[in-house]
Amino acid sequence: METVYLLILCVYGTVWGSFLTVVGLRVPLNQPITVSRSACPNCHRILSAKELIPVFSFLHQKGKCRNCRQQISLIYPIIELVSAAAFCLIYVSSNNQLFQIINPGLLLTFGIIFSVSDLSYQILPDRIMRWFATTVFAAHLFNDMQDFLFYSASGITFFLLFYLFYRIFPDCIGGGDVKCYAVLGFLLGYQTCVLALLLACLLVFAVYLPLLLAKKITSQRVIPFAPFIFTGAFMAYFIGPAFYEWLNLLLYIT
Ligand SMILES: [Zn+2]
Repeated sequence: METVYLLILCVYGTVWGSFLTVVGLRVPLNQPITVSRSACPNCHRILSAKELIPVFSFLHQKGKCRNCRQQISLIYPIIELVSAAAFCLIYVSSNNQLFQIINPGLLLTFGIIFSVSDLSYQILPDRIMRWFATTVFAAHLFNDMQDFLFYSASGITFFLLFYLFYRIFPDCIGGGDVKCYAVLGFLLGYQTCVLALLLACLLVFAVYLPLLLAKKITSQRVIPFAPFIFTGAFMAYFIGPAFYEWLNLLLYIT
């Protein structure tokens, strides 16, 4: 029965990932999310229902538009599969408790929207940032405002630190990254958020350092940080408690 649940979750996960991709592509352009049907970005032909089935349509069409044969970006099926895997991970780790689903669910949802927007247009739209901050606030309300002051102070601290960094090194990060870490601090608390930041930096180095050394990119290249910020935050949410327990043990032994 558990396998059936997971399969159903995988299907929901791919559909959710596909929908969030549309949000991330349309909101920065001020286009409606639900009214108009998706079209091929090259020949502008409206896609049929069959072409909208996540992952399957990409495989069936061998990654090309059926009309103009333009290559479809691999990023779409990757996001849909990541969303499916994250759905299963969130469910398995939740122990069927709703409040355990909220925080990682928010990280997944806004992570995909911001990542798509950042990869496509190099912006983290303010409108989505307001939705993110509002839903995090609502999540704290749902959680009986437990430790609300702690989470608020974490968010403010991260905002101030990142704002200072942004003012000193305006070419290194964007204003959207400052707001993003402020909301993440408010959602996760400072300890988990510090780990999230560390993991995001490690991921950026792991991906871009080999490319830089191989001269595939130059140091002037603008890096879309959102995918790394949210992957780091998602990982930190799950491994944070075990990591700090291990760190405490290590400090205690030494
Ligand atoms: Zn086309």
